[in-house]
Amino acid sequence: MKLLVAKSAGFCFGVKRAMDMALEAVQSHPKALYTLGPLIHNPQAVQSLGQLGIQVRNRIENISKGTVILRSHGVSLQELKEAKEKRLRIIDATCPIVKRAQLYAKFLQRHGYGLLIVGDAHHPEVEAIRSYLGEGVAVVEDVKKARRLGPWDKLGIIAQTTQSFALFKEIVNVTLEKAKEVRVFNTICRATTIRQMEAVDIARKVDSMIVVGGYNSGNTQRLAAICKEIQPRTYHIETAHELRSRWLAGRERIGLTAGASTPSWIIKEVEERIRRLKDL
Ligand code: SF4
Repeated sequence: MKLLVAKSAGFCFGVKRAMDMALEAVQSHPKALYTLGPLIHNPQAVQSLGQLGIQVRNRIENISKGTVILRSHGVSLQELKEAKEKRLRIIDATCPIVKRAQLYAKFLQRHGYGLLIVGDAHHPEVEAIRSYLGEGVAVVEDVKKARRLGPWDKLGIIAQTTQSFALFKEIVNVTLEKAKEVRVFNTICRATTIRQMEAVDIARKVDSMIVVGGYNSGNTQRLAAICKEIQPRTYHIETAHELRSRWLAGRERIGLTAGASTPSWIIKEVEERIRRLKDL
């Protein structure tokens, strides 16, 4: 039996940066330390931060003093304003790549483009981007919905940073016949594209594919969905104990990848359990 482990599995640059900033904050501002929403989309990592004294608050109203760490996928303009008004100490762990997507969106709107965001309207990253913009913003996550939109004179398009590149291209294509002018900024994070490409490559070579990451992690869900299209025996798990031996029974080649917010210790545990179950 062969186990193929993706080199790109686990923390991306933005998540690692946010986690490092949080760990540093534990040393420098240990009292009344909060994150606004989970710092990253991984319950186990958030729990380990909790053990160090970092508390999660979902609303800024619920933080009256101390230090707030802004999550890797950004916070809304309103939340940022409130944090400043309350004179909280702000540690901004927003990923620079997410910030860049926000800047492109603002640029397009300033220059008179209607705006289309390819992404999940309820994801904190997309909600944060929208909060910096005025009217005339549409969010779509599938081609069907994109077909129903328009027409526009001038249309600007950006993507949620963890969006699938193939879907982004498809939606851009659909809009070409609906606007006189289309301006596209590919704001998909390179780390995401590389991770998805590697996962596709592995999924093509194996009989079972294991994808590890938070059930609340959009990029892990997308990774699992992409793998499932190629290898129907794809299983999304959060931790090693969820792994079932029947998923591996009789399989010659098994693939393993993980989302951008999955800690390396969880990936290691899953890898060890696969090896144990397959007697490797
Ligand atoms: S996936 Fe990309 S955009 Fe999102 S936090 Fe990681 S590096 Fe930043």
